[in-house]
Amino acid sequence: MSQGLSDSSCISTQSSAGNADETEKADPKGEAKAIPEPESGAGALSLAERRFQDLFESAPDGILQIDPAGRILVANRSAEQMFGYTREELFGSNVDLLVPEANRRGHAKHRREFAAAGRTRPMGLGLDLSARRKDGSTFPVEISLSPIQTEEGVHVTAVIRDVTERKLVEERVRSLQESYMTELEARQKEAERLNLLKSEFMASISHELRTPLHTIIGFTELLEEEGEGPLNEGQRRFLRHIHADSEHLLGLINDVLDLSRIEAGGLQLRTEPLILQAIAIEAADSIRPYAQSRGIKIHLGEDLNVQVFADLMRVRQILYNLLSNGAKFTGPGGSVSVDAAIEGDWVRVTVADNGIGIAAEECTRIFDKFYQVGLPPVGVREGTGLGLAICKQLVEMQRGRIWVESELGRGARFHFTLPYQQLG
Ligand code: ADP
Repeated sequence: MSQGLSDSSCISTQSSAGNADETEKADPKGEAKAIPEPESGAGALSLAERRFQDLFESAPDGILQIDPAGRILVANRSAEQMFGYTREELFGSNVDLLVPEANRRGHAKHRREFAAAGRTRPMGLGLDLSARRKDGSTFPVEISLSPIQTEEGVHVTAVIRDVTERKLVEERVRSLQESYMTELEARQKEAERLNLLKSEFMASISHELRTPLHTIIGFTELLEEEGEGPLNEGQRRFLRHIHADSEHLLGLINDVLDLSRIEAGGLQLRTEPLILQAIAIEAADSIRPYAQSRGIKIHLGEDLNVQVFADLMRVRQILYNLLSNGAKFTGPGGSVSVDAAIEGDWVRVTVADNGIGIAAEECTRIFDKFYQVGLPPVGVREGTGLGLAICKQLVEMQRGRIWVESELGRGARFHFTLPYQQLG
């Protein structure tokens, strides 16, 4: 809001400033205080005075001195140019002349308050001030005010800076910023819309792909059983490849389907009180044949008999994923264990192995979609790089968190938390 040439801390006056339009010429006594033009009477001035006068005249800011009645005693060249008045016109006039009409009311009070406070008011206080030119137009200014104690009362020096250009630049920057933010928001919304579309598309295509894959796997198994006639060694080998690759593809499709469903917000949780031990036993039983084929033992801890409030299917899926990773990334003779601990309102579940471990810098990235560390330990890489991304989403949907502690060559300890519910 525009506050006028001088604001609440402005110039003191002994006489009522009254209506600005009544601004009067000063008593000619003021003449003695006017600084003459640099040229006039230059010879009579000392070198120091001339230097001061040059400085005063060449200052880029307008400078005024005002007496206690609000009359202008001194004005420099910049002030003349800024306001469009000649020095003669300014001299003796009430400073209200330079205040926009809308701000003149209360100006005299502001001046008195400033004089009473007796403190310098620096520029750039963040006040929105404006001044009035002779032609009635207004422009934004910054003003510093300094009181000078004289025999005739408090005189005030006002240094006035025209900040039109700066305000224009600020306005331009602000409007650029605004349009940038609007565009950014629009793009963000569009990206979210596309992401949702992608997830919906992936979910529907994955669903369609699963049906023929189940057919391929089913018929492959029938052929392997040799019910339709004996197979030679080459045919058996081909079928094993078809079977393994189809299972891998099915795993990938299931993972993509799960993740797409979660991202599209289509996965509904069914949370209920669950005993962890029962779920851990089930998950371990499913993994055991694979673990045994790799010479790896699975241990279930003694503290798993705790209750959580979670979704049965999803907790089973998380445990299955972590246990199968443990078995996959641990060498023969190794082991994978599951245990739990109550921590306040949470149960922390830990799946630990003594396998190849994970370098510190990979420990957060492995939870990203499709992220797999380095080269596969042996042979063709198993897995899809989606398992941990799914686990993270599932844990977070149940308000928990998941993280890993590991070092290369020193095994891995995956932890996740679930809401604790007391047995009872
Ligand atoms: P996938 O197992 O299908 O590759 P995940 O998302 O489950 O995908 O795991 C991502 C990567 O994290 C794995 O490829 C592996 O590099 C690393 N990783 C996961 N679990 C372990 C573990 N227990 N020990 C060592 N590395 C692991």
